[in-house]
Amino acid sequence: MNEEDKAFFKQLLTERLQVLLDEANKTVTGMTDESQNYPDPTDRASLESDRNFELRIRDRERRLISKIKDALDRIEYGTYGICEECGEFISTERLKARPVTTLCINCKKKQEVEERLKGV
Ligand SMILES: [Zn+2]
Repeated sequence: MNEEDKAFFKQLLTERLQVLLDEANKTVTGMTDESQNYPDPTDRASLESDRNFELRIRDRERRLISKIKDALDRIEYGTYGICEECGEFISTERLKARPVTTLCINCKKKQEVEERLKGV
């Protein structure tokens, strides 16, 4: 991967990370505000399920945030875009579609087949 590509993916990942962090902050702020505004128990119940939903989203965001941070680390270490499984370069097209991926398309397909066989 050349310097130009590296800079491109670094910026792409940094921007995504920023968006996710902004969203996460908004969710946290929203949660504290709402709990003060709904003293009624019925509203509270629906608020609780909303909150569970928000927490699930945040869990997914959290995982994505850590994946993006890992990808940025790999750019720094010069291992970004190299498949974890086979050590081959991951195509730029694939990285553009899934910038946090650590597997080339062949290894990803293999992994999916194995997961299906294991019934995961
Ligand atoms: Zn591979």
